[in-house]
Amino acid sequence: MSEAIAIDAGLMRQLIDAVADAIVAHSEELTALDQAIGDGDHGINMKRGFEAVQADAGKIAEKPLAEALGAIGMTLVMKVGGASGPLYGTLFMTLGKTVGAATDVAGLAAAFAQAVDAVKARGRSEPGQKTMLDVLVPMQHALRAGGADLLNRLPTVAAQAAEATVPMRAIRGRASFLGERSIGHMDPGARSACVMVTAACRVLGG
Ligand code: ADP
Ligand code: MG
Repeated sequence: MSEAIAIDAGLMRQLIDAVADAIVAHSEELTALDQAIGDGDHGINMKRGFEAVQADAGKIAEKPLAEALGAIGMTLVMKVGGASGPLYGTLFMTLGKTVGAATDVAGLAAAFAQAVDAVKARGRSEPGQKTMLDVLVPMQHALRAGGADLLNRLPTVAAQAAEATVPMRAIRGRASFLGERSIGHMDPGARSACVMVTAACRVLGG
């Protein structure tokens, strides 16, 4: 990633399209993961939410970055539903509030850390409980570490982090109702976070 961050309307449009397309392309996989340890709606929820974001992409992309992120978050809260909608909504809305001063990777890392903290507060959750946080927190750490080749490393970090949820026992969300039986399956929200990060990095990496 180049040190300076400049996300103009064109790039925002590409990011929205890439993330939405990736979620739609993976929606059956996400649903299958949620069928194993949840109620089988995660792919459907996420697809509905990101199709709504994409439908508004032209308008959203024209907004200043902070407002665009806020609008994405609001749409996710309203359209995704389930546990994941308010949590991803919180992530994007908080990023909208905190990203303002970010002009480089360090600033973005600080904004992302606050957004992840807001997800933790909203979900009353921490990493290690087999949730989306098990990908979001490693992302936060990788961003803070920064360095060359960050955009190539983030998708790998995310994939490994999602894989690491397989042996975990769920302590939060619907999967926690399964207790021991949640072990041996990847967390659907960890996988959707990985799908989003991977799509966004591909666009930013040019
Ligand atoms: P629901 O569980 O209401 O059906 P989804 O299926 O859309 O909602 O989303 C499930 C995902 O949400 C889980 O795989 C997990 O990653 C995430 N999740 C659920 N509860 C929490 C929580 N308290 N904190 C963080 N993430 C959570
Ligand atoms: Mg579900």
